[in-house]
Amino acid sequence: MARVYNFSPGPAVLPLEVLQQAREELIDWHGSGMSVMEMSHRGKEFVGIAAKAEADLRELLAIPADYKVLFLQGGATLQFAMVPMNLLRGKTKADYIYTGEWSKKAIAEAKRFCSVNIAASGEASKFTGIPPQTAWKLDPDAAYVHYTPNETIGGVEFHAVPETGEIPLVADMSSTILSRPIDVSRFALIYAGAQKNIAPAGLTIVIVREDLIGQTIEGTPQMLDYKVHADSDSMSNTPPVYAWYMAGLTFAWLKRQGGLKAMAAVNKRKADKLYAGIAASGGFYRSPIDPACRSWMNIPFTLADPKLDEPFLKEAEAAGLVQLKGHRSVGGMRASLYNAMPEAGVDALIQFMQQFQKKKG
Ligand code: PMP
Repeated sequence: MARVYNFSPGPAVLPLEVLQQAREELIDWHGSGMSVMEMSHRGKEFVGIAAKAEADLRELLAIPADYKVLFLQGGATLQFAMVPMNLLRGKTKADYIYTGEWSKKAIAEAKRFCSVNIAASGEASKFTGIPPQTAWKLDPDAAYVHYTPNETIGGVEFHAVPETGEIPLVADMSSTILSRPIDVSRFALIYAGAQKNIAPAGLTIVIVREDLIGQTIEGTPQMLDYKVHADSDSMSNTPPVYAWYMAGLTFAWLKRQGGLKAMAAVNKRKADKLYAGIAASGGFYRSPIDPACRSWMNIPFTLADPKLDEPFLKEAEAAGLVQLKGHRSVGGMRASLYNAMPEAGVDALIQFMQQFQKKKG
């Protein structure tokens, strides 16, 4: 068996130990005689798996008791709609921070439900930076402030949580959740598609302060009402049982790694190394991103000569380093270094980049 180093932005690499455990348990989960895929979501086995996953996630993120944790479907994209449908609560306006492709999509969807105030935009810097909070124009009547802590495509990341006072703060943490400790009490709602830092695709995690839910806009389908999911432990219909189980394996793995403080130290080290490798190339490779908001998770870089892009990708793949092509809207390369990317993978990438430069530079 030869595992490659997979730098995909998502669905992304999962911890090898998690995959091995899933393989061990695949056809007979703990003597039940069946796979988790084949279990009733209302049976005691799966209810136990689900509860353990939630308990471990609560422990990892130190989620306060007045927050609900929901295991949903529809991807982070459905949250672009569910957030306004649930959190407008009679108001007509919401603030959005526009930092790249994913916040753009969140904004477009929110416009179907309310008047969107772009309180800050990274457009002037072509989304290679984030405007300082002192320049934001927050609306005191906004129902909430929405931002994207990590822009998966552009590679800009907030390294501090914005201050929004009494106005509820909503975060699309799809590509940064569990990469470091956060103070959940600073947020009204956090959502994340699981397919980057948690589990296979098909699961979306929502962490929401309990007092904010139950006031959906008129006509909201019950499946899009957080309260319906909160009141049924995310089992108002059949949940994505296998992805939920896999998420649980990842949470347990994170605890064994020493929790999020330990993950943050490794993640920072991995990212620092790659940025340093790019900087040391004397311009052969370049990071377009403002050093103050460089992502730890998704690192875009370009080659000074774009004619070398194709050979770079081809030779990287031959060396077992895959999925490095940048998003079509940005070009160049992008290395995603989620929790499950081993440090050795980053070392191998840097070494490959140096050798490639020596050959072609
Ligand atoms: N937000 C961010 C920050 C993302 O990276 C992605 C997926 N790449 C999405 C939203 C959309 O997620 P999904 O495909 O789960 O709907």
